[in-house]
Amino acid sequence: MTSLRFKAVVAASRKTPVEVKAPKERPSEYFAKYVFNQEKMFRYLPRETYRQLRQAIEESMPLSLEVANEVATGMKKWAMEMGVTHCTHWFQPLTEGTAEKHDAFVEHDFKGGMIEDFTGKQLTQQEPDASSFPSGGIRSTFEARGYSAWDPASPVFIIGDTLMIPTVFISYTGEALDYKAPLKKSIAAVDKAATSVAQLFDQSVKRVTVNLGWEQEYFLVDEAFYHARPDLMLTGRTLMGHDSAKNQQMDDHYFGAIPERVAEFMKDLEIQALELGIPCKTRHNEVAPNQFELAPIFEECNLAVDHNMLIMSLMRKVAKKHGFRTLLHEKPFAGVNGSGKHNNWSLSTNSGTLLHSPGKTPEENLRFAVFIVETLKGVHRHNGLLKASIASASNAYRLGANEAPPAIISAFLGKQLGELLDKIEHSTTEELFTIEGKHGMKLDIPQIPELMIDNTDRNRTSPFAFVGNRFEFRAVGSSANCASALIALNTAVAEALTNFRQRVDDFIAKGKSQTAAILDVLREDIKTIRPIIFEGNGYCDSWKAEAKARGLDCEESVPLMIDAYLREESVQMFESMNVMKRAELEARNEIKWETYQKRVQIESRVLGDLCMNHIIPVANKYQTELVDNVLKIQKTFSEEDARRLTLYNVDLIEKINKHTTFIAQATDEMVEARKRANTIPGIREKAIAYHDEIAPYLESIRRHIDKLELIVEDEMWTLPKYRELLFIR
Ligand code: ADP
Ligand code: MG
Repeated sequence: MTSLRFKAVVAASRKTPVEVKAPKERPSEYFAKYVFNQEKMFRYLPRETYRQLRQAIEESMPLSLEVANEVATGMKKWAMEMGVTHCTHWFQPLTEGTAEKHDAFVEHDFKGGMIEDFTGKQLTQQEPDASSFPSGGIRSTFEARGYSAWDPASPVFIIGDTLMIPTVFISYTGEALDYKAPLKKSIAAVDKAATSVAQLFDQSVKRVTVNLGWEQEYFLVDEAFYHARPDLMLTGRTLMGHDSAKNQQMDDHYFGAIPERVAEFMKDLEIQALELGIPCKTRHNEVAPNQFELAPIFEECNLAVDHNMLIMSLMRKVAKKHGFRTLLHEKPFAGVNGSGKHNNWSLSTNSGTLLHSPGKTPEENLRFAVFIVETLKGVHRHNGLLKASIASASNAYRLGANEAPPAIISAFLGKQLGELLDKIEHSTTEELFTIEGKHGMKLDIPQIPELMIDNTDRNRTSPFAFVGNRFEFRAVGSSANCASALIALNTAVAEALTNFRQRVDDFIAKGKSQTAAILDVLREDIKTIRPIIFEGNGYCDSWKAEAKARGLDCEESVPLMIDAYLREESVQMFESMNVMKRAELEARNEIKWETYQKRVQIESRVLGDLCMNHIIPVANKYQTELVDNVLKIQKTFSEEDARRLTLYNVDLIEKINKHTTFIAQATDEMVEARKRANTIPGIREKAIAYHDEIAPYLESIRRHIDKLELIVEDEMWTLPKYRELLFIR
């Protein structure tokens, strides 16, 4: 038993859990230990500096260099007490990961020695050598350099010996080269539009906050198996592998007991996450074997996105310590569930949440209805864009492909909310104006029972579902930066709310009462959003046809989905909401197409290599054994007996030959298809060619490999099988 695979089996089965010692303090005491949060600001900064920094954060104002210097001095004191020697700007380039470049605190003291130094300039602005980050041509057409600038709304934190400073990353001419800059702009757009609508109901509303609670799904595999699977290592997913005889059909993994090794990993991860100020709350097994989920308590959107980026890198790091690898890919294994990242999204004001029902008064219920309907208005108008915002080469295996919900955005409301909207739509103004209530009129809006919160979460197939006090955007991929989806969603909602307020004001100017104006606009919008509301089973085939008839975006090819960013209504939305300009959108699309094309290219190359170096040689070896067996039988027995005795093996030889011939031919064809695609000059067209001409080979070749896996003698098969990868001992 010397094959790579059996070595991996032995290594994996001998692992004992790495025990994690919990800190002596309670979680509430070590929470945010490594974060320069409000409490530390107060402790380490002069009073006036503290006040100015808080004000800058709350009002999203830039810091003066003078204040920045004071802040840096306080931060340095805290950091050095914590053993920190380096600092880095930490940003989110368009590669889905995060980037950092470390600088030591040391400076010349000009007396021949060194001193620890950290200035306001270092804190607030850096010029990372940005030339190798994707920019979609922005830096070549505009200005070569890019710079990173501290976002004071994202607190600075410590990892190891390094002070991490969350920053935006922009070109010298102001175009965003990252996710954070447009995300912050989209949050500001929602704040402005939603505050103005909320003020129709309550003048004391000063500000609206976007909240995000993400639920991160992931797989763990034993590192020994991971290292024996080049496809996992290089592409993040298995490009082949026959179903395990047992996988998720017994539903015994979901909410089941967490294996001890995994429990120790989770404990370790959560302690470190809590120390970094990530408010971890829920952990459990997911549906597929070896699949798990971690969810924190929701936070302000910008901070929540930082925390999600942080948890993904923390997961990778901590898993290694426990002899695992974390798979964040949306579909690491065919035949079992993929991983998503539900984004729980809500709006709240300084005085409470805007998407919660029931309200205490009919006015509050009307406000609730307005925010629900206008959110859906944005989702309806930009459903293609929202789909583009979650589209990626890896999420495509989860959405719109086998064993997955279709790539169509629709919204689920649940029975009670649906009835409320029906009631408003079909009400007449007269009906609503019977004398009663605060403004001398009765608002005929039914009370919505509290029950709704438990009642709305049943439809698991909906990509955008109302769940009592928030919407859950479920189509987001597990490996994605949530910001991509939220930039689109926030901006679409901001546009709808801006437009809503405008139309209400127009009606009021024409002499309508405010409530009548609101109801009129609301009724119109409820009619408009009907096509996006779908309460049925999203997995059902008939839904595709129906969605098409309703005019929803049904595009299934990722490179073509991405076109949605450049449709006139999208460009106009991003520009008018002051989130992104056309040139930025164009540049970002170049990156999206290029990323897509490269990822398919890598998968195709890896598969080709594995076919030639593993699959075909192993199949040939086994086939030779069978041939030897046949020859020996023929030598030993009479012709008639030999024919009978070799029947089965001859059949196997034929089958193996059929599969290897297909694999070899298809691999050659795939290489030729890549060569042709690589000569295409435009990146969009190249991505389309990779989708249409190359990606299908990944599926067809795989089918034949998986058949071979069942035929070839177990001991000869070099790659760990699903039954090994999917079950942690
Ligand atoms: P489920 O798996 O049933 O959807 P979880 O408890 O796993 O539920 O996740 C719920 C997520 O929703 C958590 O991150 C939670 O903090 C978040 N959440 C709860 N209320 C809100 C809200 N008002 N706005 C945004 N997120 C919320
Ligand atoms: Mg959820």
